[in-house]
Parts: sequence; C-alpha cells; structure tokens
Amino acid sequence: MTATLLDGKAVAAQLRTELATKVARLPYRPGLTVVLVGENPASAVYVRSKDRAAREAGFDATTLRLPTETTQATLLATIAGLNEDPLVDGILIQLPLPAHIEATAVLEAVDPAKDVDGFHPVNVGLLSDGRALLAPCTPRGVMKLLTAANVSLTGARALVLGRSGIVGKPVAAMLLAANATVTVAHSRTRDLAAECRRAEVLIAAVGQPEMVQGDWIAEGAAVIDVGINRLPDGRLVGDCDTAACARHASVITPVPGGVGPMTIACLLENTLLAAQARRSKP
Ligand code: NAP
Repeated sequence: MTATLLDGKAVAAQLRTELATKVARLPYRPGLTVVLVGENPASAVYVRSKDRAAREAGFDATTLRLPTETTQATLLATIAGLNEDPLVDGILIQLPLPAHIEATAVLEAVDPAKDVDGFHPVNVGLLSDGRALLAPCTPRGVMKLLTAANVSLTGARALVLGRSGIVGKPVAAMLLAANATVTVAHSRTRDLAAECRRAEVLIAAVGQPEMVQGDWIAEGAAVIDVGINRLPDGRLVGDCDTAACARHASVITPVPGGVGPMTIACLLENTLLAAQARRSKP
C-alpha cells in the first residue's frame, strides 16, 4: 500500500476561508490578543504567523510584546486587564515563558471563556467530560485532518504516542469522545513497536525525529504525525519516518505541511467560538 499524503495546508486554508466568511458576516470583529514575553526567536516567528493569519481572516489581532524581565505580578495584572476588556475575545499566552515566571499560574489567570489555547484547568476538565467549547488547537487540528481524510473512528483502535497536556492527552480525550478505543503510549511503554502495530489510527506526538518506523505501521492505518523536529542539517522532520510509514499506511500527514498549518486555523476557530459564546450572553 502507498499512503495518500494528507495536505494540511489545503485543509487549513479551507478552514481559514470558511472562518473569514463567518467573521465578515458579524457586526463586530472578534478580538485576539497574543501575549509574548521575551525574545525567544521561534516564539516571535509563531506569533507573527498567528497575527498575520488572524488579520487575513478579518479578526482584530493584537500582539502584546513584554520584555523578558517582566515580573509575574505585572504579567498577571496584564492578563486581568485583558480578561476585563470587552473587545478581547481570545487571549493566548505564547509559551515558553521566561524561567522566572510560573507558567501554570499564568495560564490559570486567563478567563476560561477567553482561553483560546484550551489550557485552563476548567477547559481541560470540560474536554475530559466531552463538552469543551475551547479545546487545544493542535489536537483540534488532528481531529479535523482525520475527518478530512474520512477516517472512521467509531470502534477504531487508536494509539496516541505521547502524553503531554498540549497534544497527547487532549487528542486522546477527543478520540475517546469520537468513540475510538484509545491507548496512550509514552516513554515508559513496553514494546512501543508492538503497540503501534495494533493501531488502526496512530497519532505520533513524541518530539523524537523519525522514531516511528515503517514496520511499526499496520497495513492501511491512518497516521497523523504531530512532531516537528529540526535535524542538525537544518531539515524539519516529524516523529515518523514518513516515506517508510507511507508504504504501509492508507493516509499520512507530511512534515512540514501536515498538522502544523492546522494549529493556527484552529486558534482562529476557537477565537470565533469564544467571541460568539461571550457576546451572545445577555
Ligand atoms: P512533550 O511535552 O515533550 O511530550 C512528549 C511526549 O512523548 C511525552 O509524553 C513523552 O513521554 C513521550 N516520549 C518522548 N520520547 C519518547 C520515546 N522515546 N518513546 C515513547 N514516548 C516518548 O512534547 P509535545 O509538546 O507533546 O510535542 C510533541 C511533538 O509535537 C514535538 O515534536 C512538538 O514540536 C510537536 N508539536 C507540534 C505542534 C504543531 O502545531 N504541529 C504543536 C505542538 C507540538 P513521557 O511523558 O513519559 O516523558
């Protein structure tokens, strides 16, 4: 079997176009504020991409750039101000934060109704209960790619490789809500290859370049590669050996151009959902 490559760029572009159409019909522009503390170069690139995509889709996007030496108290006060601002529908705190700031306290300070990253414990809890409005963006993107590829999840054996709060755990909750039979594997899992071979749907989110080998993939499995790893020669690769896995999978996402573009599109979708929910309240 040779897998179909799932074009995340195309699926994301379509979602962004749909969102732009919905936003254009609103009597207001949904407001997204991204808070960037410090000078992390990768974060600066991500924030610029988010800002550009949001503006292109008609959102009112703002990036608050704060210096590295910003204190936790100042950051918390800034977030309190954004929570109160009626024009701000979505707040995103760009991670990682500088080492002197406790990320958990900061993420918990964001109003859950404006938490477009879906990282607030209230939203984490709602997701595990199967009723989240604002769920983390990358896992949302994974689920949309599975839908775009017509992958049937009901009763399917799904393996999530990785158990982070950003990707692995939320994607496992979403797969469960979609009626898959879900296994979550991690660094202590015995015989990872055997676990993978049982999976009809495999989500790889480990951050280990090309760890998943071709002979780990069941014939016809759907493979979503969330990993983004830069090799010493500068190339970007995923957590799967794409060419080898594609010989067994039915569909697989490339890296780059798979899950990556979906994350920003889902951030915009969350911002629109947050705006509609908050602004429709009496
Ligand atoms: P993370 O927080 O470092 O979590 C990695 C997970 O993988 C952990 O649960 C870890 O297990 C597990 N793991 C690590 N090495 C392993 C191994 N050798 N065997 C089995 N399990 C192993 O990473 P993350 O934030 O979830 O990100 C994962 C990857 O996705 C990274 O490459 C990241 O860049 C990428 N990513 C992409 C996007 C996107 O927009 N496309 C967004 C977020 C992340 P333990 O829990 O046991 O340590």
